[in-house]
Amino acid sequence: MSATIIDGKAIAAAVREDLTRRTALFTERAGRAPGLVGIQVGDDPASDVYQRMKAEAAEGCGMVSRRVILPEGTTQAELDALIDELNADDAVDGMLVQLPVPEPLAEPAIAARIAPEKDVDGFGPGNLGHLMRGEPGSVPCTPSGVMHLLSTAGVPLEGANAVVVGRSLIVGKPMGQLLLAENATVTIAHSRTRDLDAVCRAADVLVVAVGRPEMVRGDWIKPGAAVIDVGTNRTDDGLVGDVAYEEALEIAGWITPVPGGVGPMTIAFLLANTLEAAERRAGVTTGSD
Ligand code: NDP
Repeated sequence: MSATIIDGKAIAAAVREDLTRRTALFTERAGRAPGLVGIQVGDDPASDVYQRMKAEAAEGCGMVSRRVILPEGTTQAELDALIDELNADDAVDGMLVQLPVPEPLAEPAIAARIAPEKDVDGFGPGNLGHLMRGEPGSVPCTPSGVMHLLSTAGVPLEGANAVVVGRSLIVGKPMGQLLLAENATVTIAHSRTRDLDAVCRAADVLVVAVGRPEMVRGDWIKPGAAVIDVGTNRTDDGLVGDVAYEEALEIAGWITPVPGGVGPMTIAFLLANTLEAAERRAGVTTGSD
């Protein structure tokens, strides 16, 4: 038996279509389009590609998007001044700083500086606190996208054993909170976890966000489990995930491919966070489905 492949590309396209419709409604009701600003420090080519993709996606769904590229060597005080200016700019609903930032800049200081209502990455202490408390706010985009894939695919979560491998602030930790909020029994595994293969084998839902090509083998997977592969690893064979896909396909009940699984969802949910931030700031609702 072969797993059902969860088509992230198609699911993300549907999310973006809905957001385009809602963005038009927002623009009509608020008298302006949602505004997103992407900040990049230095000219790292990968950061450049990500920032361009985000800006194009925002424009594609009808938002106003602006990119600010600061030179390498920008000081924390200079970046803080820009963030403060954007925090005070009424036309800006969301801002994000492309990570990683070059030294001497520090990510925690940046996350804490961005006004929580404009923190559309959801990485700041305010929004992570809201997530923990089950309050409205911006939820980090990749785990939000994973939840949408699971619900669209009809994967049961209530009472399920969910294992998240990886405990980063941007994926693993918020992922665990979101699964917990859906009443899964959650284990968060990491590099010090003992008998990781056995831990994974107990999972009805396995989310892997590590950054090691094909680390999770087919025999680590419980037959029929939902396997979500967040990993994106550039290898000589192209882009591969953290899960040995061909092996897992034979055992899992559902699986996401790499590329075309989680990746497209991340940008879709950045746009969703931006629209929702704009709605909260403008006191306008466009409904969601
Ligand atoms: P981090 O490097 O921040 O975190 C990796 C996590 O994996 C850490 O918690 C680490 O544990 C854990 N880990 C490392 N080695 C092992 C191991 N041998 N066994 C078990 N756990 C291990 O990565 P990110 O969370 O930022 O990203 C993870 C992957 O997801 C990367 O491939 C990244 O490219 C991809 N990604 C993809 C996105 C998308 O949109 N598709 C978005 C974001 C990330 P410890 O804490 O103990 O060090």
